[in-house]
Amino acid sequence: MKRTLVIIKPHAVQRGLVGEFLTRFERMGLKIAAIQVVNEQPEFWERFYPSDEHWYENAGRKTLENCRQNDIDVQERLGTTDPAAIGRMVMRWLVDHMSSGDSIAVVLEGNEALRKVRAACGATLPNTATPGTIRFDYSTDSPTLANDEKRPVYNLIHASDPDESRNGQSAVEYDIGMFFPHR
Ligand code: GDP
Repeated sequence: MKRTLVIIKPHAVQRGLVGEFLTRFERMGLKIAAIQVVNEQPEFWERFYPSDEHWYENAGRKTLENCRQNDIDVQERLGTTDPAAIGRMVMRWLVDHMSSGDSIAVVLEGNEALRKVRAACGATLPNTATPGTIRFDYSTDSPTLANDEKRPVYNLIHASDPDESRNGQSAVEYDIGMFFPHR
């Protein structure tokens, strides 16, 4: 059996979407193997999310590209055009949001769980996600609006990346270990 971790983020919990999301995963044939309400300090989320220069640069470049496409003056809006500095800013917004209230961590088990759950969640940005995915179906958010309001894109859910590794192990095992160390 393969497994993956999702986190239903604080703004989705506040919107009362937990039951709907869990139902979607169960209908896909996945089993809830562990579940927990999470309310952690910023330091915890700083360990949870990647905090290397590569992530910052990458996130910053994506933000710069989005601003360019939308004719947004990045210097005026964010006070810098340095990709790594912008990436750090996005991470700070994300960490602040994740530590702002309850979220729900769930381990889902089933054949092809990792890739099926990533596909069901959809692309990172709700405005580019495909209809039928969670991020498209439940959100109208976009980076333009989020960057303007100096907050992370509200994309409702985190799902472990099947192609990433952390500290010498797969991202999914790292993610699960942070919430369920004995599983
Ligand atoms: P994920 O693996 O699909 O969650 O995407 P990433 O690891 O690239 O990004 C982490 C989180 O940062 C996302 O889930 C969003 O909440 C937020 N985020 C990503 N890109 C942007 C952006 O360009 N602007 C803002 N404000 N937030 C972003």
